[in-house]
Amino acid sequence: MKEVKQFQTESKELLNLMINSIYSNNEIFLRELISNASDAIDKYKYASLTSDGKIPLVDPEIRISLDKKNRTITISDNGIGMNKDELINNLGTIARSGSKDFVNKIKEAKEKQDLDIIGQFGVGFYSAFMVANKIEVRTKAYNEQAYLFASEGEDSYSIEEISKDSNGTEITLYLKKSSKEVDYDSYLEEYQIKSLVKKYSDYIRYPIKMICTSSKQKLDKDGKPIEGEYEDVKEDTTLNSMIPLWKKNKNEVKDEDLNNFYKEKFMDYEDPLISLFVRVDGKITYDSLLYIPSHAPYDLYSDSYEKGLQLYSKGVFIKDKCSELIPDYLKFVKGLVDSPDLNLNISREILQQSPILKKISENVEKKVVEKLIELKKTDFDKYVKFWEAFGEHIKFGIYSTYGTKKDLLQDALIFHSLLKDKYISLAEYKEAMDKKQKYIYYASGETVEAIKLLPQIEKYRKDGVDVLLLDKKIDEFAIMMLREYEKIEFKSISNESTDDLSKEEKEKVESLSASNKRLLDNIKDALKGEVDDVIISNKLVDAPVCVSTKEGLSLEMEKTLNEQPGSEEKVKAQKVLEINPDHELFNAFSAIQDQDDLVKEYASVLLDEAMMLEGREVKDKKEFVKKLNGLMIKALAK
Ligand code: ADP
Repeated sequence: MKEVKQFQTESKELLNLMINSIYSNNEIFLRELISNASDAIDKYKYASLTSDGKIPLVDPEIRISLDKKNRTITISDNGIGMNKDELINNLGTIARSGSKDFVNKIKEAKEKQDLDIIGQFGVGFYSAFMVANKIEVRTKAYNEQAYLFASEGEDSYSIEEISKDSNGTEITLYLKKSSKEVDYDSYLEEYQIKSLVKKYSDYIRYPIKMICTSSKQKLDKDGKPIEGEYEDVKEDTTLNSMIPLWKKNKNEVKDEDLNNFYKEKFMDYEDPLISLFVRVDGKITYDSLLYIPSHAPYDLYSDSYEKGLQLYSKGVFIKDKCSELIPDYLKFVKGLVDSPDLNLNISREILQQSPILKKISENVEKKVVEKLIELKKTDFDKYVKFWEAFGEHIKFGIYSTYGTKKDLLQDALIFHSLLKDKYISLAEYKEAMDKKQKYIYYASGETVEAIKLLPQIEKYRKDGVDVLLLDKKIDEFAIMMLREYEKIEFKSISNESTDDLSKEEKEKVESLSASNKRLLDNIKDALKGEVDDVIISNKLVDAPVCVSTKEGLSLEMEKTLNEQPGSEEKVKAQKVLEINPDHELFNAFSAIQDQDDLVKEYASVLLDEAMMLEGREVKDKKEFVKKLNGLMIKALAK
């Protein structure tokens, strides 16, 4: 006898959403039904194993059949099946808590045309209504009466007794008519089903079978192939590969397997620089394959680049590029995460807010960074290759998190060393420091070569004090966030402060400043608006002048910030012109220090020189040339 029943209210809402959905990714219905089938087989297996032999074990199988004439696709399994009550409870209602929430969220998302949200959830059985306008479920639990559940997605469904030989569930979808917007007919094509299974369900543990047609050479009487004659042959084919690489025993998986998998899955022609096979068994369980490419993906710096790892749950594909799994600064990392703790249930809170994903992400981040730091120790050359491709991201990680990731990331940093002329870590710098040295010194500029030419670096070279050479825009900003490394503060060699001078040096500077006060004041006066101060320098060996800055912005930072698109308001570093008291030029100025006008006239040449030595543009080139020519004419005429 056929009974007609009403769907529960929440179910109706969800059904409605599905039926009216033109979600372009409606292909996920297949993933949902296959994973239900796989769960049902899991349950049957469990029931059998715990039945003292009463329920026989069977070879598990999920089968897909296509019927073009009737426009149906049928997915069947030999799993646990459902009795009448279960049918009503499982398919007539959304039994899980929180589902109402989900329906609301999805409604909101729909209003915002953000339909992608559907794909991020297991929308379960009802997702079939995205592609079908009528669904029949034939199901039989072991040793029970079989039933047919049928629904056209409206308010009600019907249930009636039927006869069915084997236990398990068979779900037949009557596909909607294709329209201009949506093509449902493609789901009747073998190749389409094959590719969807590969895409979403390749690693389902049970075979997903389908009778497939292939073109084979005809055979003659003796079984030999006949040249040029082909026929269509139907063969039962398993569509999925069943065992995911990341589910295998770690020691069974060779580097080559990991590399090949990477190239195939993430479409790279080169082996990755680093492959990482992570298995975590704890409060949260997950397996992960993580890769660092050997070169930056071509679109890494474009707006269209999407970071993220693939997300699986128990071998079932949930989402490509799940951005919640990886922090921004590791956006170049590729890979996947498979966790049984996440399931496809729609009752799960929105993926973005999932505390499980957050935990996994933190863990993945830690694993990646630890691996990098280990690589730095074991294969420095390889690490340098990594650094040249992605080092700026690590520094960006420090900067963008306001230094909160300092402890995690500081030992991954390497910088060019002035004295060693190669990359060194902060630990190496510290190790080589003189006991009396107060700071970790750094200098910044466009290129390592340009930094080496800075006038203020000479002294450090001469004194055998190492300086880190920062040639990337992000560097100083990251250093600013770090502030110190193991209690040793960083200091720019272009910082005007003199707190690291010896007593004698300080005294020398002070006395010279006092005796040349009028000269310094005059220069300062002439350069008003250009520099904040003019001082006697202790930094210079051969060069006559240099420009330093007060605490805060450096010249490099000023430049970087002002280059940012849309930075209307120009930021300004507080510049200080430093003069080398041991240089002949200083003596010349000293000699004319009473002639205020002359001092003022040539003050700008001093600043221009200093800016040039810093690798900067001269502000007023015409004026500079005029003054230089004046001096040359005088000198040459002598
Ligand atoms: P979910 O699978 O996320 O729980 P669904 O709406 O897909 O939600 O399915 C609801 C319930 O229906 C399942 O939890 C399961 O108990 C039952 N079910 C669905 N498909 C099958 C199947 N192929 N065999 C047995 N039971 C099934």
